[in-house]
Amino acid sequence: MMQTPLTMTQMMERAEKYFPKKEVVSRTGGGIHRFTYKQIAERTRRLADSLTKLGVKKGERVGTLAWNHHRHLEAYFAIPCMGAVLHTINIRLSPQHISYIINHAEDKVLLVDSDILPLLEKCAPELKTVKAYIIMSDETEIPETTLSPVYHYEQLLAEANPEFSYPEDIAENDPAGMCYTSATTGNPKGVVYSHRGIVLHSMALGLADSAALSEKDIALPVVPMFHANAWGMPFSAVWFGTTLVLPGPYFTPKLLAGLIEQEKVTVTAGVPTIWLGLLKELDEGSYDMSSLRGVLCGGSAAPKGMIKAFEQRHKIPFMHAYGMTETSPLVVISTLKSYQEELDDEERLELRAKQGTLVPGLEIKILGKDGEVAWDGKEMGELCIRGPWIASEYYKDERTEDAFRDGWLHTGDVVTIDEEGFVKIVDRTKDLIKSGGEWISSVDLENALMAHDAVFEAAVVAVPHEQWQERPIACVVLKDAYKEKTSKEELFDFLKPQFAKWWIPDDILFLEEIPKTSVGKFLKMSLRDQVQKEVLRKS
Ligand code: ADP
Repeated sequence: MMQTPLTMTQMMERAEKYFPKKEVVSRTGGGIHRFTYKQIAERTRRLADSLTKLGVKKGERVGTLAWNHHRHLEAYFAIPCMGAVLHTINIRLSPQHISYIINHAEDKVLLVDSDILPLLEKCAPELKTVKAYIIMSDETEIPETTLSPVYHYEQLLAEANPEFSYPEDIAENDPAGMCYTSATTGNPKGVVYSHRGIVLHSMALGLADSAALSEKDIALPVVPMFHANAWGMPFSAVWFGTTLVLPGPYFTPKLLAGLIEQEKVTVTAGVPTIWLGLLKELDEGSYDMSSLRGVLCGGSAAPKGMIKAFEQRHKIPFMHAYGMTETSPLVVISTLKSYQEELDDEERLELRAKQGTLVPGLEIKILGKDGEVAWDGKEMGELCIRGPWIASEYYKDERTEDAFRDGWLHTGDVVTIDEEGFVKIVDRTKDLIKSGGEWISSVDLENALMAHDAVFEAAVVAVPHEQWQERPIACVVLKDAYKEKTSKEELFDFLKPQFAKWWIPDDILFLEEIPKTSVGKFLKMSLRDQVQKEVLRKS
């Protein structure tokens, strides 16, 4: 066979050639903008030309600090297609971490949204490699800033060549993108994506038994473009000519519901906290969600109660999936097999709440205490993955040795796998609760609690225990309407029939809010500290 390189240039060129009329709908601070792929492709060429003129060379990193909008999409393609490396920066990290990753990646140019300027200004004195800042804004003037030198994105594009030719010497294993995981301890860890990895992962998102993204879809990635490349959705969407709807900054559940209704969105993607918020909005308001064929949910476990509410109450099909920054991210997705569609509602729900089966192209093994675990849905082990869109190392980081061993990525996620090959994430290794030498899954307890009508969110953490080593404590946020009338006892009574006695938490604390990470996951570390203090105070 021919050895043609799998590079990202072909993706944008396909959209340009075959889907010039298809649209990108972009919400920015200035409102809703509509562009055709013809326009986006031309603007992308202009951006690549501008960056070349600013001196960006092959292999150099260009960072973005931006929300999900058309300019960010243009950067998503211009940077890799000109042979440089797109470094998406998580704007919800602390200024210290942001400075660390910009220096560590040695970014040459930064593209930044005007509302994120104050954050970047805080980091700027620490930055060692940045030669230029480009401000992305709807305003015609550059806002006042301490950054220097600064350029205006639209002014640069206006002066650039709309027919810029992408270089032809890009190899498929060349770096195309880069992203740092948010790391709850220590500095964030960098992952570099190759052109080949991105192309193959994009193809996987289009497979009928995975997310089945296609030209006919209208896709709304709610997951930020700085969180594992918005799970690769923008890459696939451009390649396939899918209509893209980008939700921009500071959206609310109301705004999301409105966008889905107005733009007739067919598929959307985000973390469970986003869907819990949307669910509340759908329960309270009146929206037409009939265009939606799937809500892709990952990043942390989707509670069964939430999946049930979406599917049964609102008739919106759910697609639970699992992945990591290190895995591009798609690894497993819970689409049912043909004969599983015959199962009753409860059994189907049980399967959908698992993270699903392996996407073609990857390999997994699950290592327990004595080698690979049985496919019985019970034995727990650490999930290990390998494949063409799985990172092989952390960028210039000695922590590579821990996670990448014997040609496999050791994920630090504890899972089970059932007879049908459905993987279920039991916990992160560090969040598992070890009680009396046995493991308790915090995720299972959280899921059970969140299935109670009164519970909005629940997180379960371990506290040290003299006799049992660790014991679980549940933290619960009640829905407003239930705050006055729900007791601990009621929740204990709800849990007891569902679990062995020793799994039942020692206490249930009612909180106003559960602390979250920069990408909307429960921040277990800070919650553990908070709970341990509370337990000490009570004893
Ligand atoms: P971060 O490490 O910054 O949280 P990632 O998105 O890379 O960013 O996190 C990947 C981790 O998220 C996985 O290792 C796993 O623990 C968790 N995760 C992802 N998807 C799911 C899911 N569907 N269910 C449970 N946990 C998940």
